Amino acid sequence: MIEKRDFYINGTWVAPQQGKDHQVIDPATEEPCAVISLGGQADVDAAVAAAKKALPGWMATPPQERIALLEKLAALYKEKSEEMAQAISQEMGAPIDFARSSQWGAGYSHLKSFIRAAKAFEFIKPLGEHAPNDRIIKEAVGVVAMITPWNWPMNQITLKVGAAVVAGCTMVLKPSEESPLSAMLFAEMMDEAGFPAGVFNLVNGDGTGVGTALTGHKDVDMVSFTGSTRAGIAISKNAADTLKKVHLELGGKGANLIFADADEKAVKRGVLHMMSNAGQSCNAPSRMMVEASVYDDAVENARLVAEKVEVGAPNKEGRHIGPVVNETQWTKIQDLIQKGIDDGARLVTGGTGRPEGMNRGFYVKPTVFADVTPDMTIAREEIFGPVLSIMKFDTEDQALEMANDTDYGLTNYVQTQDGARRNRLAQKLRSGMVEMNGESRGAGSPFGGIKRSGNGREGGVWGIEDFCEVKSVSGWSND
Ligand code: NAD
Repeated sequence: MIEKRDFYINGTWVAPQQGKDHQVIDPATEEPCAVISLGGQADVDAAVAAAKKALPGWMATPPQERIALLEKLAALYKEKSEEMAQAISQEMGAPIDFARSSQWGAGYSHLKSFIRAAKAFEFIKPLGEHAPNDRIIKEAVGVVAMITPWNWPMNQITLKVGAAVVAGCTMVLKPSEESPLSAMLFAEMMDEAGFPAGVFNLVNGDGTGVGTALTGHKDVDMVSFTGSTRAGIAISKNAADTLKKVHLELGGKGANLIFADADEKAVKRGVLHMMSNAGQSCNAPSRMMVEASVYDDAVENARLVAEKVEVGAPNKEGRHIGPVVNETQWTKIQDLIQKGIDDGARLVTGGTGRPEGMNRGFYVKPTVFADVTPDMTIAREEIFGPVLSIMKFDTEDQALEMANDTDYGLTNYVQTQDGARRNRLAQKLRSGMVEMNGESRGAGSPFGGIKRSGNGREGGVWGIEDFCEVKSVSGWSND
């Protein structure tokens, strides 16, 4: 069994001061695969003090030097791609090929796009011709506490660390206690890349312990959080007394509007996107809304596609989906599937219980519900499992109303050949992102939501700006 109890503080691995053993459970076997330590207030204090001490020097480091370190980090991240993919696969159950391509790949692509954005980033720029001696300076917010989830571990960590490095912030990372192995490997890379002591620190812990100690800490200037809306609310309240900045990337309940003129792969694409990562993505298109004239065909098509989605072990190569992360999530998903049935949605395929032939591991049957109505729990709550809800609409206005009738506002999707309709909907959908006709958003585009999906924007230039204060200066010398 892997034993990794130490924390990375002030440029070195140290034993916890207030550590409590915690077993990391392999979701495929339900057996412990590693032991880590959950820290306490004293560990947080030490990490924050190191970050605070390192801040003035790091902020004053020329951006080119910070970018050079990020380039070293990206090279190490690439070099250790297999080790990283194995760690992610083991701790959160992503099938190994998916861990190698998408999970590892997301982190690499973010690091590369921060390097690109950083090279063009204007840390000092004029206000305008009307005020020739004014300057707008972007400078580091300060010490940042980063709290991340388990579902896309490297995606989240690189989005925060990459941007903070460019901005000149120092940081304390608390990864999810479900996925600490990839985070500790990442910390080893930060060490090897040669970041100055105290710039990056890692303390493992849970939400109520290290999480709360960080978000309420007087010397933390900003919290950058990705996770559930529930925790986002608790964090905002706890951070309020010290008036620190709180950037939140929270849950979602994305609508996927499929019109009668959508391309023939639209339904398949929507189902596969929903099932990918065993449904554990904040931007999953979990509410498929289909125009009435093609509704029955779409439901049948969705059934065929979902029934071909294989479920299997994370260590097996292939395009299958793995287990969900833990027993709590498995039970929550089961309860929500049962709630869908009880509320009168039509179970098209899947359902409660493990897939046939599986009696161990947190595996869920790829599940499709049809005839879901907006008031049903499965249409409103984030399920975070491979469960799709299909709903019917008659008109564009009705589709828009249904799509916007949610507490969340992260990503919505539109499938139609009508360009004017696409552009109209892109502007009217209430979400931070809209993806249409299966085109992915470009590298470096901002990721983030509105309403209960949060308030931050991560990735590229906008991601760097999230870690910067704006300083307004007059009397600048032009000599
Ligand atoms: P979670 O909120 O339970 O945990 C996330 C992190 O927050 C963990 O590190 C956890 O230890 C910590 N935490 C929990 N309670 C806390 C508290 N009171 N104070 C401080 N820290 C606390 O979420 P999860 O189950 O790990 O992740 C799944 C959630 O993350 C889903 O809702 C998903 O939609 C969301 N998510 C959002 C995005 C996005 O960018 N919008 C991306 C990925 C995941």
